[in-house]
Amino acid sequence: MNVLIIYAHPEPKSLNRTLKDFAVDVLEREGHSVKVSDLYAMNFKCALDGDDFLERVDKEKLVIPKEQMNAYDKGTLSQDITEEIDKIKWADLLIFQFPIWWSSYPAILKGWFDRVFVQGFVVNLYDGALYDKGLLSGKKALISVTAGSPRELYTRNGINGDIEVHLMTLWHTTLEFTGLENMDIFYIFNAAMLTEDKVKSELERYEKVLKSIS
Ligand SMILES: Cc1cc2nc3c(=O)[nH]c(=O)nc-3n(C[C@H](O)[C@H](O)[C@H](O)COP(=O)(O)OP(=O)(O)OC[C@H]3O[C@@H](n4cnc5c(N)ncnc54)[C@H](O)[C@@H]3O)c2cc1C
Repeated sequence: MNVLIIYAHPEPKSLNRTLKDFAVDVLEREGHSVKVSDLYAMNFKCALDGDDFLERVDKEKLVIPKEQMNAYDKGTLSQDITEEIDKIKWADLLIFQFPIWWSSYPAILKGWFDRVFVQGFVVNLYDGALYDKGLLSGKKALISVTAGSPRELYTRNGINGDIEVHLMTLWHTTLEFTGLENMDIFYIFNAAMLTEDKVKSELERYEKVLKSIS
């Protein structure tokens, strides 16, 4: 299987980096091919704007869906977006590795979706190509996250509310919206306070998930 890991953490010694490197190692040992988009290392531009389009249909007003459709069709999206699209086309599985920040995902990853999940490539709203007809149908997604809070705070009755509800915009209205099939989310809670032993047991748990990929 071809696996693309989209990784969003600025620190090379972070737990998230350990998880990303671990996934690359396990997946390659299992015979999969792996590519990584290390968004901070790439200094990935996260604000969608007119510079994303090398040619404009309308130079007076930026109408983003129209420019995205046109630029995707003509191959005139900016180089960094085109490279990400090519990696997604190559991949059978996308893994998103990130820390929970403000009960959501880091801005650099949000920007990656804004800029890379272009209309015409992931969905086509004009002809109903979304959800089960989304243009990424046939590919899978795995969200792998770490959260500072303990699990019990992120339940329906916990003070933070249900983590699945917080992540619904990613799980459902982004990933499933494009036709991607989600695997179960891999969570590490209490992540700021992990002992070395606990990190080891969490990696063992993650290894089982990675080995289940087919
Ligand atoms: C802006 C911001 C907003 C946040 N909002 C939220 C929120 O809304 N909800 C929430 O729950 N949390 C929140 N947090 C906390 C955040 O989710 C955690 O800090 C994060 O998930 C921890 O992941 P990390 O990769 O940064 O961990 P790190 O800080 O790198 O590491 C965590 C622990 O793992 C250990 N460790 C790391 N790598 C290894 C290794 N290879 N071997 C052994 N031990 C290792 C470290 O020593 C440390 O004890 C927020 C943090 C920030 C900065």
